[in-house]
Amino acid sequence: MDLMEYQAKELFAKHDVAVTEGIVATTPDKARAAAEQLGVVVVKAQVKAGGRGKAGGVKLAKTPDEAYEHAQAILGMQIKGLTVKRVLIAPGASIEEEYYFSYLLDRANRRYLCIASVEGGVEIEEVAKTNPDAVKKIPIDPGSGVDEAKAREIVAEAKFPEELTDQAVTMVRALWTVFVEEDATLVEVNPLARLEGDVLEALDGKVSLDDNADFRHEDHARFEDKAAADPLEAKAKEKGLNYVKLDGAVGIIGNGAGLVMSTLDVVAYAGEAHGGVKPANFLDIGGGASAQVMADGLDVILGDDQVKAVFVNVFGGITSCDAVANGIVGALDLLGDTATKPLVVRLDGNAVDEGRRILEDRNHPLVTLVETMDGAADKAAELANI
Ligand code: GDP
Ligand code: MN
Repeated sequence: MDLMEYQAKELFAKHDVAVTEGIVATTPDKARAAAEQLGVVVVKAQVKAGGRGKAGGVKLAKTPDEAYEHAQAILGMQIKGLTVKRVLIAPGASIEEEYYFSYLLDRANRRYLCIASVEGGVEIEEVAKTNPDAVKKIPIDPGSGVDEAKAREIVAEAKFPEELTDQAVTMVRALWTVFVEEDATLVEVNPLARLEGDVLEALDGKVSLDDNADFRHEDHARFEDKAAADPLEAKAKEKGLNYVKLDGAVGIIGNGAGLVMSTLDVVAYAGEAHGGVKPANFLDIGGGASAQVMADGLDVILGDDQVKAVFVNVFGGITSCDAVANGIVGALDLLGDTATKPLVVRLDGNAVDEGRRILEDRNHPLVTLVETMDGAADKAAELANI
C-alpha cells in the first residue's frame, strides 16, 4: 500500500524524523482555518502521485484567504488521473537547498539500497540522466542495517554539507527506523530540505508499506482509502481472495499464482482471434478450492460487469479435481440465478476423470468442459466475444 504525503509524515513523526505534520483539510474553509493557525503555508494536493508541484498541486499561501483560494483550486483537481480530495496545509518553510533521500528494496541484489543526492527537489530519474554522478547509491546489508557508522558513511557518500552532518545522521537513522519498524518497501524524502537557519527537514514523504506484513501492523488499516479502492477488489479482500481486477472480458479462476499467470497469457493470446478480448482479472483460489472459495471467487468475478465469460483452469494436486468439480457444482448451486455467464472449465491432474464425470453428470447449462488449456482459453475467448 502506498501512502499519501500526510500519512507518510505521520509515520515520520512517530519515529522522530524531523518533519512538520501540518493540517489536512477537505474544504477551502478548513484550509483557511488551518492557515489562520499556521501563518504562511503551502497548500499541497494529497494524491498518490509524484510531480504534484509541476501539476499545480503545491501552492504557497501568504494569507488565510490565499490558502482558501488555493485549496479551492486544488481540491477536485486531477493529477495523473487522480482526483484531489484532500489538501495538506503545511507551514511555509523557507528553503535554501533541496536534497533527495530514499531507502528501498533492491530485489535483484537481495538487499536494501539507499539513494541519496544533494540535487533533490526535482525528479531523481531526471538527475540520474543529466547528472548521474550526483546520485549516490549505497547498498545496505539487511543483516546489519543502518547503525551510526553506516549512517555516517551514507551522509559522507551523499556529500551532504559538513555543517549538517549530525542532523543528517540523525535523519538517516530515523528514516531507517521508519523503513524497518513499519515494514516499508520504500521510504522516500524529496525534498529533504535545508531550511533557513541550517535546519534539515523532510518536506515531502513517500512511503510504500509491505502488505505481506499487514498482520503485524493493525494500525496500518487506517491508511487505507476504502472509497478509492475498487469495489470488487475490496470485496475479494474481505473474502480473503487473491484477486486483481484487470480490464478485459474473460474472468479467470485458477489454483496457484503461476498457473493463473500463464492462464492470463494464454487467454490474451487466444483473444487475438476473437475480437481482441482480454483477461478480466487475476484470481488465485490457492490450494483448498472448497465450494465456498469457488463460490466467493465466482461471485466476485460475476459481479464484474465487463466479464462476459469465465475460464476456470485448475490443476488438481493436493486438492484433487473431484473436490474442485464439487466446488464448482456447489458454487453454482449456492449462486443460483445470480450465475448468468458461461463458464469454461478445464481440469487436469489428480483425479481428473472423477472431476470431469462430476461436471458431466451435473450437466449445468452454463458449464462447458474443455480438455486442454489452449482449447479452453479459445472457447472462453469465443464466448466472451459474442
Ligand atoms: P511533489 O511535486 O509531488 O514531489 O511535491 P513536493 O512536496 O515535493 O513539493 C514540490 C516542491 O514544492 C518542492 O520541491 C518545494 O520546492 C516546494 N515546497 C514543498 N513544500 C514547501 C514548503 O513548505 N515551503 C516552500 N517554500 N516550498 C515548498
Ligand atoms: Mn516531492
